[in-house]
Amino acid sequence: MNEPIVRFENVTKRYGALTVLNELNLSIARNEKVCIIGPSGSGKTTVLRMLMTLERINGGVIWVDGEPLTHVQKRGQMVLASDRHLRRVRGKIGMVFQHFNLFPHMTALQNCMEAPVSVLGLPKKDAEARAAELLEMVGLSGKKNHFPIQLSGGQKQRVAIARALAMRPKVMLFDEVTSALDPELIGEVLSVIRKLGAEHDLTMLMVTHQMGFAKEFSDRVCFFYDGKIIEQGPPDQLLGNPQNERTRQFLSAVL
Ligand code: ADP
Repeated sequence: MNEPIVRFENVTKRYGALTVLNELNLSIARNEKVCIIGPSGSGKTTVLRMLMTLERINGGVIWVDGEPLTHVQKRGQMVLASDRHLRRVRGKIGMVFQHFNLFPHMTALQNCMEAPVSVLGLPKKDAEARAAELLEMVGLSGKKNHFPIQLSGGQKQRVAIARALAMRPKVMLFDEVTSALDPELIGEVLSVIRKLGAEHDLTMLMVTHQMGFAKEFSDRVCFFYDGKIIEQGPPDQLLGNPQNERTRQFLSAVL
């Protein structure tokens, strides 16, 4: 199937008078690994939040897996989707946040079981087996009965990755997932993401400041500025030989 798994079609998002996404067009192919870079406030996180349907957009349509996420088609017309529709289509997407957002009163294992049981209706035994398997994959089988407070930042983030995967998403979103970590813990999280990308059929969209990781990991890097993509391309090209002056300025400040 050549149809993109994610497609933003002229998507606009405003907060009051501030236009944060400005008629954004972005298509992501199945299994593609895309990194989003750009200055603070350029709309990078907003792209992920709109895909998670954490908020409504003001214009355009977002498509996921061939279906409109934000709308439904009725008699040839696109009308805004109900919350029920959003919940169903959103199930195809998993997100990992900068600040982990684990449930503090649940163990690592329970964190990974919660949504599969309560949202998907999976029997507890099956959810537990799936959670244990995923915690093993992220190298944490020895910590499954630990609470978040008993884990390092890197371990918490790996639990968060396992928790998102427990819902069997087709698309994984990563929002600056190493920004809150001490430098020595960044590597363990990136290596889990690298392994995921290599071993699973997963589309990944990642907002990151780790240019080295973007370079080796992604198929494409998109540079955001003022709510638009102003340059994109394979990482070697975009990071090594940017054509746009703003991209050049940004990269010379961060590299
Ligand atoms: P980035 O991830 O590129 O740093 P964001 O997508 O987080 O940027 O934010 C883009 C702009 O939208 C910023 O100017 C930010 O202040 C604004 N913004 C984000 N969320 C809200 C909100 N809930 N209410 C008002 N303004 C917001």
